[in-house]
Amino acid sequence: MSDDPRLDVQYCPQCGGTEFERRIPKRDDHERLCCTQCGWVHYVGPALAAAAILENEGRICLVRRAWEPGKGLWTFPGGFVDLEENPVEAARREVEEETGYVAEIGDLLGCYRSMGPKGKRVVVVVYSARLVGEKGTASEEVEKVAWFPRDEIPWDAFAFPTGADALRRYLDSS
Ligand SMILES: [Zn+2]
Repeated sequence: MSDDPRLDVQYCPQCGGTEFERRIPKRDDHERLCCTQCGWVHYVGPALAAAAILENEGRICLVRRAWEPGKGLWTFPGGFVDLEENPVEAARREVEEETGYVAEIGDLLGCYRSMGPKGKRVVVVVYSARLVGEKGTASEEVEKVAWFPRDEIPWDAFAFPTGADALRRYLDSS
């Protein structure tokens, strides 16, 4: 296993082969890892995540992460989009799972590139959101859930630079 997801394959998912070579496949312009037995090409794209900047009465809901990456640091709720989900549903679900709050997802604020565990590339779709209810307790993925006034965001302990960018832009524009 390597930290580069482009090299991180042990068995060919098509034939089970274990021998790979780096070459440029037909109609491509980049070197990829290719199975020497059946020709399967290991294409890796970024994973899709969705997140929400949830605001209520001038305060922003942030979660302190219990796990790496960003353990012990703050960010707004979000996570990976499931295969059958659209990003809006994923953002609403993640807010509920991570905070116990029910959100109405609002405007699309932007798409940001980020780095996940083991060098995994992630594209995060960020929405604004409004608090509409409360359902239960926060998940074990987060240590703490807190509402921060707009001018007291813990920038020095913010988990992801791209997340901080997204939040700064949101605060500047609304
Ligand atoms: Zn193969």
